[in-house]
Amino acid sequence: MDEDTRLTHAGSNPQAQNGAVNPPVVRASTVVFPDLASLRAAAAQPFAGFFYGRFGTPTHAALADALNAIAGGAGTVFYPSGLAAVAGVILSQVRAGERILVVDCVYQPTRKFCDSMLRDLGVDTQYFAPDIGADIAALIDDRTRMVFCESPGSLTMEVQDLPAIAQVTRARDVVLAVDNTWATPLHCPVLQLGADVDIQALTKYVGGHADLLSGAAICNKRAWARVQGTAVRLGHCCAADDAWLALRGLRTLGVRLRQHAHNAARLMDWLARQPEVRRILSPAWVDDPGHAMWQRDFRGGNGLFSVELEPQSPEALAAFADGLRYFGLGFSWGGFESLCLPFEPGPARTATDWSKPASYLRFHAGLEGAQDLLADLSAGFARMRQSPRA
Ligand SMILES: *Cc1c(COP(=O)(O)O)cnc(C)c1O
Repeated sequence: MDEDTRLTHAGSNPQAQNGAVNPPVVRASTVVFPDLASLRAAAAQPFAGFFYGRFGTPTHAALADALNAIAGGAGTVFYPSGLAAVAGVILSQVRAGERILVVDCVYQPTRKFCDSMLRDLGVDTQYFAPDIGADIAALIDDRTRMVFCESPGSLTMEVQDLPAIAQVTRARDVVLAVDNTWATPLHCPVLQLGADVDIQALTKYVGGHADLLSGAAICNKRAWARVQGTAVRLGHCCAADDAWLALRGLRTLGVRLRQHAHNAARLMDWLARQPEVRRILSPAWVDDPGHAMWQRDFRGGNGLFSVELEPQSPEALAAFADGLRYFGLGFSWGGFESLCLPFEPGPARTATDWSKPASYLRFHAGLEGAQDLLADLSAGFARMRQSPRA
């Protein structure tokens, strides 16, 4: 089946809902049972049917079915945000005295979770360079329970060799979790590449409209029970309205990603020709060190990429950013709108050196017309050039 066909029909069962194409939003806490025997049967198997709202409603089941079908998962667990999914998956696998290996380019709130709460719980985190590949084997000892990747890193865009890493984690009985929010399971089937958990901030491209917060852990058989059990203990769940919005967003994910990628390619082409731009950070960019691996493991690109600039003064960066017309200044990404974010990778890195003087901008190319976005960038660079240097 073609990926777009699967995306259109996965988890869809109109006849179960009076023929309506989409499932209803089933908002529920209490579920009532016709008699005591059915209540007891449901309590014994809370995920088999519809038991209590925190365990999910038919709306969640439809989204889980769709995500499992697209990612090749055995089971999907929902969370109130992408960060909650990251924390929930990590907590499901490690105990005091154990270790986790985390890629150095990981989402910064993930790093903060590891360096604060996880550390206080007695779990050590060791960061590794994104290009480590099979050499990850040298970092694994008998206390190591998990390797955590984010490919590409969502600020600096380093791709990791997931098949090579997975070969090692399989052999050493270590769980491999991948924050796959950038690619989504549509564009990078990380479970097929050997990961045990595909973590999604549904907030981003799956939702696609900057109007929901939710996370998912799409698990293989090996990881599912512990991930689900930990979510039950911690009371993790997501709102039925957000599950419904995520499923609605999922149906158009393919066509949106193609348009985001098309616009990003236009912007990268233009940016690469500006004298202030040293390099484009995106595996979809032909000169990027991760391009060949991206071509091997991914099915497509999207709107999110970064650029490294010659060092700019704070005034020059503000002159660029403050007059932007279509690019919003803000965190997150994956909605239909364009965004721009200045960032500094250096301070958060411990396994790779980002100390070279430079300025960095991350862009999210939205679904606007590329001509308008190019004109906006062009006016921004003109303002930056007129601004006094520090
Ligand atoms: C945004 C993001 C998250 C967190 O998602 P929230 O829903 O905002 O908590 C996790 N990982 C990556 C890579 C992200 O970009």
